[in-house]
Amino acid sequence: MTVSEIRTPKTQKASWGTSLQVSDDLWRLRLRNPNTGGRDRIIVNTYVYAGADTLAVIDPGWPSTVDHLEAALAELGLARDLADVDYWLYTHAHIDHMGAAALLEKRSKAPHIAAKSLTPFCPKWHRFQDEIHDWRPWIQEAFASPHRERLLAARQHHGLLETHGPAALTRTEFIDFGERIQIGDLNLEFVDARGHDPHHGAFFERERGWLFSGDVILAVPTPICRSMHDDLDAYRGSIARLAALPASLILPGHGLHRRNSKDQPFEQLFERSLKYVSDFEKITRHTLSQATAPLDLYEIAIRSTPEQKILEPEARWWVHMALIDSHLATLVEHGFATRVEGPSGPLYHV
Ligand SMILES: [Zn+2]
Repeated sequence: MTVSEIRTPKTQKASWGTSLQVSDDLWRLRLRNPNTGGRDRIIVNTYVYAGADTLAVIDPGWPSTVDHLEAALAELGLARDLADVDYWLYTHAHIDHMGAAALLEKRSKAPHIAAKSLTPFCPKWHRFQDEIHDWRPWIQEAFASPHRERLLAARQHHGLLETHGPAALTRTEFIDFGERIQIGDLNLEFVDARGHDPHHGAFFERERGWLFSGDVILAVPTPICRSMHDDLDAYRGSIARLAALPASLILPGHGLHRRNSKDQPFEQLFERSLKYVSDFEKITRHTLSQATAPLDLYEIAIRSTPEQKILEPEARWWVHMALIDSHLATLVEHGFATRVEGPSGPLYHV
């Protein structure tokens, strides 16, 4: 195989977003988000499998893109409306992948296939979504004054509960790591892909070599944030697990999908993701080793950027701070750094 990357010219534009037919029975949708502020700008890859008798959607997207998803399915001739979908599948719980689940239940009777570990959170789905996406408890714990107060004010939270009210997931069919599910012609194995989210799995179709990898393998550093119970060591393990699969097509949650090729073998993608982790670890350790006095998280984050200043856009800066914090926590845990309580909050030194 020589194709390493699917070029964009085949992408079709529409009022609801873009579509790209990846294979005879697989589409990639990128739904336009009517909310354009902050994190809502993140574009998600929604995959639609349209088999002979089966229509399945993998990672249907943001709560605010549900109408655009319905418009896309109708315009592409895949469904009359959301009620025609037979399965909803989720790589992980984050709002841009699974935040719409309860809203979809109102418009579709199809089962929702998601990680078994999400069982306890389904009765209060919107509350759970709001809790994992509210970074304020983490800010409170991780930062020192005066940055703590400023960042808290910047993270005022408008959640799903406020917008849509309480909602339970009642049509969930849980899947455990290592289990398989038959979706039309697809026999999908749910592979443990935790780290970026404690409920993250990847769907692997062994015969076709398709790997729906969620947010494990991205072109940018995968966010790892303690506020969302993420875990660096688990993430490293997940990269190794996915790298060992005989995949021929990687279908990520964001960015371009890739076919394995001699020119750009998949090993490069997995190595790149591992290198992002080791580069962050290196710069965190370097910054601490250069400091003449204990530093707070914000200062370490600033000193760990190429130009020693906050990154643009804002979402990138938050991911950077979260990653530095995750590495600091791991360095403390492994005895390579020390966290002390200063007068204005936590400080770190080697
Ligand atoms: Zn995610």
